[in-house]
Amino acid sequence: MIYMDNAATTRMSERAFEAMRPFFMEQYANAAGTYSFANASKEAVETARKQVAKVIGAKANEIFFTCGGTESDNWALKGVAQAFAAKGKHIIISAIEHHAILHSVQALEKQGWEVTVLPVDEFGMVSVEALEKAIREDTVLVSIMAANNEIGTIQPIKEIGAVCRKYGVLFHTDAVQAYAHIPLDVNEMNIDLLSASGHKFHGPKGVGFLYVRKGVRLMPFMDGGAQEKKRRAGTTNVAGIVGMGAAAQEAAANMEAAMAKVREIRDHMIARIENEIPYCRLNGHRTERLPGNVNFCFRFIEGEGMLMLLDFNGICASSGSACTSGSLDPSHVLLAIGLPHEIAHGSLRLSLSEETTMEEADKVVDALKEIIPRLRSMSPLYEDFVKNQA
Ligand SMILES: *Cc1c(COP(=O)(O)O)cnc(C)c1O
Repeated sequence: MIYMDNAATTRMSERAFEAMRPFFMEQYANAAGTYSFANASKEAVETARKQVAKVIGAKANEIFFTCGGTESDNWALKGVAQAFAAKGKHIIISAIEHHAILHSVQALEKQGWEVTVLPVDEFGMVSVEALEKAIREDTVLVSIMAANNEIGTIQPIKEIGAVCRKYGVLFHTDAVQAYAHIPLDVNEMNIDLLSASGHKFHGPKGVGFLYVRKGVRLMPFMDGGAQEKKRRAGTTNVAGIVGMGAAAQEAAANMEAAMAKVREIRDHMIARIENEIPYCRLNGHRTERLPGNVNFCFRFIEGEGMLMLLDFNGICASSGSACTSGSLDPSHVLLAIGLPHEIAHGSLRLSLSEETTMEEADKVVDALKEIIPRLRSMSPLYEDFVKNQA
């Protein structure tokens, strides 16, 4: 099997997995316990808080654990909206946000919020000038993702943060794809809120966090007990948090080397596909791009057919994003970068990790060189195209 769907989820780090183990079987105390048996759980959670904070230059007391990226995104948007409704009811996002953001703002629109959706250019980039123009007197929050999950484009987060700061507007970034993969610093980049998720960087599934800059008001999203300084109720997921902390620490320590290694394999794949497979188009930005992201459209091809044949070859990949595949709608991200429907349907995302080898990369390109002509030979559109060429 060749796994190239690391943007959907990653294999757990061995070290992170081992770090979790005792918190299921021996140190299983509720971290809120008042007896000394709970101390190990409490201490482990606070260690993890420091570990995940350090990666983005945050303070431990600015980290609030959640059950993942989706909850963090929902909480940031709805929590800020509720706290600031008296100031204004306007939010700005980009057109290529994850559904956790898009659907959260749709829910807010039903409650009377106005939302400006900034377009992106053909590479998936938000314009900082357009953002500046979109900010109004009643704008409360800007939410723009650090890096896109489908096409890998990395946004000018520092410049966006500077504009938000200039106008006194809060800045949230969905950094689920970027955190522990590329350098981020919440102070240097003026980020007020940041979402991350453990399973996207070799930690466990079902655990994430929201960074909330000290002093930023935010309504709780979960009502219940007094966990997380009364801001996020629910029994603390000690093992999950410990695993995420260990994975964050490991990924941050290896970040420079991992970025260089993964980038080299990515660029090799991109070059081979562009040179060896006709009628393809690289989606996303060529340089401002996540190290592990390869995304192509192949003309005259349905993404589903391609994924099925790749699967027969033992290759895990995705078309559009994991969340949208299964639906027949083409990805909103590919439409936002200006691709027509019929081309957006033939997209393929290959997402690499530091475990991906050059040999695997070559095997996948070799498989595509065989699969794509085979699918095209069955396509009436391709037949017409060839006829018209002759
Ligand atoms: C995966 C992902 C999410 C959702 O995170 P979960 O932990 O799976 O809920 C949100 N945003 C982006 C950009 C993602 O890639």
